[in-house]
Amino acid sequence: MKIAVFPGSFDPITKGHVELVLRAVPLFDKIIVAIGVNSQKKYLFSLEQRLAWLEEVFKNEANVEVAHFQGLTAHYCQEVGAEYLLRGLRNASDFDYEKTISQLNNIVGEGLETIFLISEPQYSHFSSTIVREIIKGGADPSPFLPKGVIIPK
Ligand code: ADP
Repeated sequence: MKIAVFPGSFDPITKGHVELVLRAVPLFDKIIVAIGVNSQKKYLFSLEQRLAWLEEVFKNEANVEVAHFQGLTAHYCQEVGAEYLLRGLRNASDFDYEKTISQLNNIVGEGLETIFLISEPQYSHFSSTIVREIIKGGADPSPFLPKGVIIPK
């Protein structure tokens, strides 16, 4: 069974993330969209809120599961029997960052392979960071958010 983990903070999930997962669905038997919890990191939205959004967005996708984990992504993949990591590439700076992480994960994860999909052009400027700035600035983030993701007032 080909299982991929799509790890991220999803703070919050954007249309860019969803587009990536849906394009990857035909490539794997199962995709686990997993929120990596880092106790040192400050998030804008609670883990419960971010998980609820993921559940809502992928509720009709039979082969997509939603989860969260602590610790190293590579260890989590071993725990759930995933031999693949899914990541998105928007630009050259994503590439530089992802290249190093993927090489490390390949060692720590004992052969764990990262599969990259290049983001679609209409979403390549979407990021959770930008969405958080828009929310903090009091503008409407809905053009960036999937249906079902409503930001609490
Ligand atoms: P992290 O905290 O690990 O950066 P994110 O939630 O920001 O997690 O992103 C998770 C993954 O989604 C990363 O591989 C990132 O490149 C990808 N991603 C984020 N935004 C987009 C987008 N607009 N198009 C395609 N992939 C994206």
